[in-house]
Amino acid sequence: MTASEATVASGHFPVPPMVRAEGVSKSFGSNEVLKGISLEVKRGEVLCLVGPSGSGKSTFLRCINHLEVVSAGRLSVDGELIGYREANGKLYELRPREAARQRRDIGMVFQRFNLFPHMTAMQNVMEAPLRVKGESKALAEQKASDLLDRVGLADRQDYFPAHLSGGQQQRVAIARALAMEPKLMLFDEPTSALDPELVGEVLDVMKGLAADGMTMIVVTHEMGFAREVADSLVFMDAGVVVETGDPAEVLANPQHQRTRAFFSKVL
Ligand code: ADP
Ligand code: MG
Repeated sequence: MTASEATVASGHFPVPPMVRAEGVSKSFGSNEVLKGISLEVKRGEVLCLVGPSGSGKSTFLRCINHLEVVSAGRLSVDGELIGYREANGKLYELRPREAARQRRDIGMVFQRFNLFPHMTAMQNVMEAPLRVKGESKALAEQKASDLLDRVGLADRQDYFPAHLSGGQQQRVAIARALAMEPKLMLFDEPTSALDPELVGEVLDVMKGLAADGMTMIVVTHEMGFAREVADSLVFMDAGVVVETGDPAEVLANPQHQRTRAFFSKVL
């Protein structure tokens, strides 16, 4: 048995976290929006990211999902650097094909659902598997049907977005992201645009996903969700991580004045 086989056998094989940010910074011109963010999300864990408007939460998610390029620091998903390959101590930018492959493994759900308005719920969910993955229509249809069932919309498959409520549209958007079989799901204030009575149905779908072991980063002001579902809570302000820990502990006993001030507004 080799040394590495021994570590596998003993269960100590060093599995990388699903997400690792090390000193991630991002500037837009002279505006430094992220100032050295470091955090980790392990496989199957849910991290809730909270903080005031403008603190850089969306920018951080967008860096993970290749929608922005980090200015400094390292960001990796499942042990692979995002956007770069490292060889002989040097970083090489990924080719578009390789970057696209990384992106396919990451699902993102936005505040605005952005469904294709001219397509039914079913067609929305089938679109990426058909076009990006080249799946057969039969398989894509079967999977889309299962996913719409999973988000509680089995009876809405043939509806167009305009005939669905905001909560239903957001659940289609979640099903659409899941159709690519991502290993990581990013949620950017997924319930902020919803009428209050529709928030619960979307959070319930997200709870189900978490229970099924999906790794998730969720930007949200829903502190009940954070307390109940998240493994860790990160409070960000002005581009830095101010405080992080077990959600119940951070919520009950915030250590920093800025965290206390924020919670006093959202709780
Ligand atoms: P949050 O999601 O926490 O509200 P954002 O990440 O959206 O914060 O924004 C943080 C800051 O970055 C804001 O000051 C915003 O104006 C700025 N910003 C975000 N995206 C861009 C961009 N594409 N170009 C210039 N400034 C941006
Ligand atoms: Mg935002």
